[in-house]
Amino acid sequence: MAGLKIDYSTCDACGNCINTCPVKALYKRGNKVALEENNCILCGGCIDSCPYEAISINKKRTKTINREKTSGIWVYAEHKKGVMHPVVYELLGKGRELADKSKHKLTAVLIDGESSHLAKELIAYGADRVILCSHVLLESQQDEYHFDAMTTILEEEIPSIFLFGATSFGRSLAPRMAARLQTGLTADCTRLEVDDVSGNLYQTRPAFGGNLMATILCPDQRPQMATVRSGIMHAKEPDYYREGMIKRVNYKGKIKPNIEIINEIIGEKKESIGDASVIISAGRGIGSQKNMKLVRKLADVLGGQVGVSRPLVDIGWSEYPHQIGQTGAVVRPQLMITCGISGAIQHLAGIADAKTIIAINTDPEAPIFSVANYKIIDDCIEVLKMLIDSMEKKQS
Ligand SMILES: Cc1cc2nc3c(=O)[nH]c(=O)nc-3n(C[C@H](O)[C@H](O)[C@H](O)COP(=O)(O)OP(=O)(O)OC[C@H]3O[C@@H](n4cnc5c(N)ncnc54)[C@H](O)[C@@H]3O)c2cc1C
Repeated sequence: MAGLKIDYSTCDACGNCINTCPVKALYKRGNKVALEENNCILCGGCIDSCPYEAISINKKRTKTINREKTSGIWVYAEHKKGVMHPVVYELLGKGRELADKSKHKLTAVLIDGESSHLAKELIAYGADRVILCSHVLLESQQDEYHFDAMTTILEEEIPSIFLFGATSFGRSLAPRMAARLQTGLTADCTRLEVDDVSGNLYQTRPAFGGNLMATILCPDQRPQMATVRSGIMHAKEPDYYREGMIKRVNYKGKIKPNIEIINEIIGEKKESIGDASVIISAGRGIGSQKNMKLVRKLADVLGGQVGVSRPLVDIGWSEYPHQIGQTGAVVRPQLMITCGISGAIQHLAGIADAKTIIAINTDPEAPIFSVANYKIIDDCIEVLKMLIDSMEKKQS
């Protein structure tokens, strides 16, 4: 693995690097600068701060990774107090597909305190094997401990592909792992395909503000690492008769973390728009904030939820959890009625799996019509009033 190298023949222990290091990986030991390797994130700040050019990053891997010896496809099984994040099941669904195509095994990595029952769940969702690493320190979602535990696991074997959920935790852990392993990481992938001959992973994600899709390869290094947002991939139906192997890895928990969790405040759990089966969504074409009442009313009448395009969040007519699209939620409703939404590519990225879309727009050329099952070329306010009226009459 890569690491920081200090040349003691030129270092005079001035301490600049210690003051610069954001993660306290460098410290004074006697009259020398010492390195706490587990804390180092290889940011390179110390290299720039050293007046004697005594610090460098050793880019040579200590072990050359033999592709034949990489151990298949891994999924990081993120959970909180025993409740698995839904993205894990979706990643296992995709991982299973990739593993079958490339004839590899699928492994889920479960780092936790006392939740070994979850291992069975991961096997039911497609894993052939679960690597289980338990320690009381790992019960908290303290990513420095999880990173340290992952480092322990990866000392024994390296996967060919390693997938993480693009959750806040995954977005913190995956780049640390990529830096430590000196490999690439493609964030927020929307498509993953594997070449069954080379084992290369084709990682597709939006680029240039979502205006084109880029496919990224990491042909020279292993693992090939990617994060995927929740709702993009599809989970398979669980099969509780599936059998798999459980491998336990010991973790000693010796690091001193830089972050201390003092208190955890759990926010109120709101129904997620990603799970809604009916969505009435509003865009800039609704004209004014007061018209949001009509959108909410139709959503209530139909037992659905309100979604919005990004500009409505930007101008404060709605809140971020309601935003749909590339930088918002990915939704899969049975029925979606869009009101005054143009259908920009970044918005369409969030509604590709909607079953039936009824689009209302005054512009017959609006791109939303290219994905709509039913088109209403009219003023959305008038159509909303008519729909509410007729639904209320039906229900009374
Ligand atoms: C990096 C990046 C990420 C982004 N992420 C997202 C995202 O996650 N989600 C998202 O939504 N956007 C996102 N965007 C913004 C996106 O590009 C569009 O600007 C946005 O989706 C447009 O929102 P809109 O359709 O509400 O507004 P507009 O594009 O302004 O469209 C309004 C539509 O309303 C119609 N209209 C006007 N009056 C009426 C009426 N009375 N009745 C019916 N129709 C009417 C018009 O014909 C028009 O088609 C992102 C952009 C970038 C660069």
